[in-house]
Amino acid sequence: MKGISILGSTGSIGCNTLKVIRHLGDFRVVAMAAGRNIEKLAEQIATFQPELVSVDSEENIDELTLRLHESSAPIPEILCGADGMIAVATHNDAETVVSATVGAVGFVPTLRAIEAGKRIALANKETLVMAGELMTAAAKRSGAEILPVDSEHNAIHQCLRGERSAEVKRLILTASGGPFREKSKAEIAAATREEALNHPNWSMGDKITIDSATLMNKGLEVIEAKWLFGFDSGQISVIVHPQSVVHSMVEMVDGSVIAQMGVTDMKHPIQYALTYPEREKGCLAPLDLGGLSRLTFEEPDFDRFPCLSLAYEALRAGGTMPAVLNAANEIAVQAFLDGKVGLSNIAKINAAVMGEHSPTAADSLEGVLSADKWARSRAIMRIERSVAAV
Ligand code: NDP
Repeated sequence: MKGISILGSTGSIGCNTLKVIRHLGDFRVVAMAAGRNIEKLAEQIATFQPELVSVDSEENIDELTLRLHESSAPIPEILCGADGMIAVATHNDAETVVSATVGAVGFVPTLRAIEAGKRIALANKETLVMAGELMTAAAKRSGAEILPVDSEHNAIHQCLRGERSAEVKRLILTASGGPFREKSKAEIAAATREEALNHPNWSMGDKITIDSATLMNKGLEVIEAKWLFGFDSGQISVIVHPQSVVHSMVEMVDGSVIAQMGVTDMKHPIQYALTYPEREKGCLAPLDLGGLSRLTFEEPDFDRFPCLSLAYEALRAGGTMPAVLNAANEIAVQAFLDGKVGLSNIAKINAAVMGEHSPTAADSLEGVLSADKWARSRAIMRIERSVAAV
């Protein structure tokens, strides 16, 4: 049995990971970290019996302990906060760490797991966006392998198997286009929380669903692709493919385009990342090619979805700029979810905070964390000002 730790076990990716682990049958969950969903975490502990768990706060330790005492399951060691997540990420018996918390909170624990030489199944793209240079350098030193769970990067990883980088012309990330693909700027500006959370193809956590509605998610993925595969921004393009059947493509210098297709279910890329370089029998119904009426592709509209341009700008600016964009975006998305700003304000807040920032090198933990903190405070200030002005 191979030991595995899961950061974000109660989330959408975390729960799918546990389903894949059950299907594969050759992993032992040694540690899990969650935030506040204590009811779900208690159920997971009863089923998977990890040795160590972590929650976000002391109060949640008390609540979890109470719940576990009510069941007959063995009680694991319970920690909390950043130290708890780091302990989960670096558990001695974990060969693989699934990084599936959302946002910057997963950054330091994921970095520590990389430094400890663990194999990382990476869903938490924000960590690589904010600190790609640090994380890839740490992986080089420790020998840790970072395998993408994000379906697009997972697809590219599959397309690149056996190919030489020098023969790759460009990576082509597909985007569903989200719920507002065909909407006007005015309709996007007036979008409600409910409309923005109604993704046409994927069922995911709230933050990534809003990022998909603004195409910020695709922008973050462009930055993620740079660090995972080592291509610069001019070699990473985006194409809108509303059916989400082609998960991404690689164009070779001779004009061949290699695509990876599959059902729209995250269990597939999760299983690939867990079993790589082997492939094992999947737990999903096969892709019904005969049932597909058409596959369509269109260029993204950078004017209606300015977050995508901001990501390319941040990547070109380099240094701490991607960390600043990521942090501002996390704050702006939460403000939208809390009903404080409209959907199109997310791009405006991100652009304004980026406009105030002069990037510096992102080669130290302190530098990245300080840029992240600065950008959060600037974004909060802008949101407070705009709320006060209403
Ligand atoms: P969810 O919101 O569903 O889950 C987030 C997880 O992180 C939950 O387990 C949550 O715990 C935990 N968490 C949040 N805040 C904290 C905290 N302060 N301390 C400890 N744990 C915390 O997100 P998703 O699963 O959708 O996404 C996870 C990551 O994977 C994101 O980076 C996303 O971009 C990426 N991703 C997701 C895809 C998907 O299909 N969902 C596809 C591709 C990438 P709790 O719920 O207990 O509070």
